[in-house]
Amino acid sequence: MKVLIVEDEKKTAEYLRQGFLEQGYSVDIALDGIDGLHLALHHSYDVILLDAMLPGMDGFGVLRALRASRDTPVLMLTARDGTADRIRGLRDGADDYLVKPFSFNELVARVQAITRRGRVQESLLLTVGDLQLDLVSRRVSRAGQRIDLTAKEFALISLLCRRQGEILSKTVIAELVWDMNFDSNTNVVEVSIKRLRAKVDVPFGRNLLHTVRGMGYVLEDRGDSQH
Ligand code: CA
Repeated sequence: MKVLIVEDEKKTAEYLRQGFLEQGYSVDIALDGIDGLHLALHHSYDVILLDAMLPGMDGFGVLRALRASRDTPVLMLTARDGTADRIRGLRDGADDYLVKPFSFNELVARVQAITRRGRVQESLLLTVGDLQLDLVSRRVSRAGQRIDLTAKEFALISLLCRRQGEILSKTVIAELVWDMNFDSNTNVVEVSIKRLRAKVDVPFGRNLLHTVRGMGYVLEDRGDSQH
């Protein structure tokens, strides 16, 4: 999945870039409307995140010019909460919009929704040992048995699954799953990991979710050895 971010605030652009890289997307950035339109017309993207207020050519102008020849899904980011802007964006061919400030998790959910539309329902299946995760239907099963998870638990297991074999610190998990900076209160991560284990590991008698003391957590199939 390839995403183009057209955003003139460098800090926001970089934050979004990092976030989408973490989600496994490849990312291009344009810092103004003219560059954004150029990239959008000359490259192929799965989705474009388009800021409304941009120097050079604003987001609405980019959108109109783009729509003359391309139907790439576009999600508009607007700092203004005016209904008129939203209607204008949607009328000009945006697939969705989000008002700043927004939560990164919500942005990802919306991006997933608009890139799924009109596309063959592909199942994005991740596997760790006998654990299976379908990112599209959001179903989790282990050894063929369905596991019911809360939204946060699902976000947590899908992060660990996407980055299986990699040790993720509590801070990284807190930032990516809770979309917040947890300087001290990483207790929420510990509690959620514990709940997740009770559903995903305990009933099956073999652990996939491991604690790496002083470092964090890792999801991996270690065969028969238990630690
Ligand atoms: Ca802007």
